Amino acid sequence: MPLKMNHRHVRSSRQAGLLHKELEELARRFGPGQLSFDPVRFPRAYAEPRDREVAALVSALLAYGNVKAMGDYLGRLLARLGPSPAAALAKGSPKLRPEPYRFQTGNDVEAFLGAVGRVLRDHGSLEAAFSTKEGTAEDRIEALANLLREAAGTASPGLLHLLPLPSRGSACKRWWMFLRWVSRPDDGVDLGLWTCVSPSELRMPIDTHVARIAYALGLTARRSADRAFAVELTDSLRAFCPEDPTRYDFALAHLGISRACRGKRVQAVCEACSLRAHCTIGK
Ligand code: SF4
Repeated sequence: MPLKMNHRHVRSSRQAGLLHKELEELARRFGPGQLSFDPVRFPRAYAEPRDREVAALVSALLAYGNVKAMGDYLGRLLARLGPSPAAALAKGSPKLRPEPYRFQTGNDVEAFLGAVGRVLRDHGSLEAAFSTKEGTAEDRIEALANLLREAAGTASPGLLHLLPLPSRGSACKRWWMFLRWVSRPDDGVDLGLWTCVSPSELRMPIDTHVARIAYALGLTARRSADRAFAVELTDSLRAFCPEDPTRYDFALAHLGISRACRGKRVQAVCEACSLRAHCTIGK
């Protein structure tokens, strides 16, 4: 029976089966070996789940821009929080005076960290705060973002950029990446910390690499990497893995981050790519 992957492609079961196999091969190629290029390495550096949770939120929400500059910034910021970021924030650290980062001033980052500490004091953990809201994972992201916005006590542009709301229509890549990290089982990349969200409820975090390759594979017909794009791509991937539709996110992102995919047909490069049979880039 043909599988409707999106509005552009209707695949035969055989074609879908082949693409599934190719995605599995990609996931074997890009996994924990890429950690040193991914911000999830920061939460993974802590032993305690509560520190991993807090470091994951801070790292995911600041994970934008140049990979090296972002990594350097996160390394310095987390070092200021000492060996236990959860304990440091929960007790209300004295002024940390963080450095600015791109769209965030130092005051924005300080307000954000203060808000995380307030939520930890009020709820005990980020998962407990997330769980106070009923509804879809997206509803609960919206609620946590609003809780942190209120706790921050400022509506500066940098603070609002750090805590986007899904209701505004953006793909909210950083929120969904955080949720992937904490909710997927520990596979050497993701952390397997939360039980309040099933991996089946996750949505693909969309970055430029994932968006380009997903479109080239016919997994979405959309061009604008917004919320609708993320929903359509996730629905396509559910056809392969209904219980875990974000299973291939890390591999697809790192195919681009590592420059193993140049975003254009380069014969010597594409020959080594397991997706070459289905990829329409340069065709
Ligand atoms: S076949 Fe080439 S262009 Fe297509 S995803 Fe693979 S490396 Fe990128």
